[in-house]
Amino acid sequence: MERRPLLAGNWKMYTTIAEAEALAGAVARSAIPADRDVMLAPPFTALAAVGRVLAGSPVLLGAQNVCWEEKGAFTGEISPAMLKDVGCRLAIIGHSERRHIFGETDAMINKRVAGALRFGLIPVLCIGETLEEREAAQTFAVLERQLRKGLLGITLADGDQLVVAYEPVWAIGTGKTATVEQAQEAHYFVRNLLVDMYEKNIATQMRILYGGSVNPGNVDALMSQPDVDGALVGGAALKADSFCSIINFNKSA
Ligand code: PEP
Repeated sequence: MERRPLLAGNWKMYTTIAEAEALAGAVARSAIPADRDVMLAPPFTALAAVGRVLAGSPVLLGAQNVCWEEKGAFTGEISPAMLKDVGCRLAIIGHSERRHIFGETDAMINKRVAGALRFGLIPVLCIGETLEEREAAQTFAVLERQLRKGLLGITLADGDQLVVAYEPVWAIGTGKTATVEQAQEAHYFVRNLLVDMYEKNIATQMRILYGGSVNPGNVDALMSQPDVDGALVGGAALKADSFCSIINFNKSA
């Protein structure tokens, strides 16, 4: 089954509005191959401005997190309805920085996934093991727990409604990339879990992104793996030239 690659940039807490507009403009003006999707997730403060810059371009607007409620007394949170209102199509959920710095639990992440879907946002559900967990041979157990709990009670009509991102915590922002074999092994494991949880056509349609120090030099090899359907990019998404090279990956032979 052919899956449309998705190249997603997560700008974390790095850009002012003006910087975000300039970066989004450079990406939107670049030559983007028609066979792939591109998403930019700026800080919340820049969503509206970046949305205006991206208007008329194929680049999709994404959020870095989303609450599960439509509105109410949830100081500091942003609702899925608000994200739809500002033009978001996707929302990153359960990023390792949310899990490990802000203490988000699988239960909370599950509510965020459900909330996003209720309002027609595509969740980009992030899962991944720490170095300690990998060294203790717990990688698969962690991925299975995060995936099953994150998707508890979540029904899907088709595989395009949700994206999974495998992001080994030890590879995020560290310059250490998983080897292509480690990435494919984890993605294959996740694919089989999805086949167990959903109908096969849904599970095989769903995109699984790799994230963790993706750069122009390693993206071709990663994208050549059968179950790697795209990349979630942090550091290398903050410069237009490196992110545009990533968007223009060529699968290596
Ligand atoms: C991320 O933030 O999801 C990420 C993968 O960051 P980096 O590319 O900088 O490792």
